[in-house]
Amino acid sequence: MFIEKSFIISCPTCQKSVAWKQDNDFKPFCSKRCKLIDLGEWASESHRIAGQELDPETVEQFAKKPID
Ligand SMILES: [Zn+2]
Repeated sequence: MFIEKSFIISCPTCQKSVAWKQDNDFKPFCSKRCKLIDLGEWASESHRIAGQELDPETVEQFAKKPID
């Protein structure tokens, strides 16, 4: 009788505990979504939008302003 050793790892994307299993296609991630996020596929669009909202010049001006 083969007893498969399983242990718990943390998903690199969301830090959720996930059991490491042979049949987990997404390991070391907890889900397909987290795997895609790590690959940059799922989040590529949001990164693009964020880049438009925060251009470096604006961030620099904001950083120079004293917080009052
Ligand atoms: Zn995850």
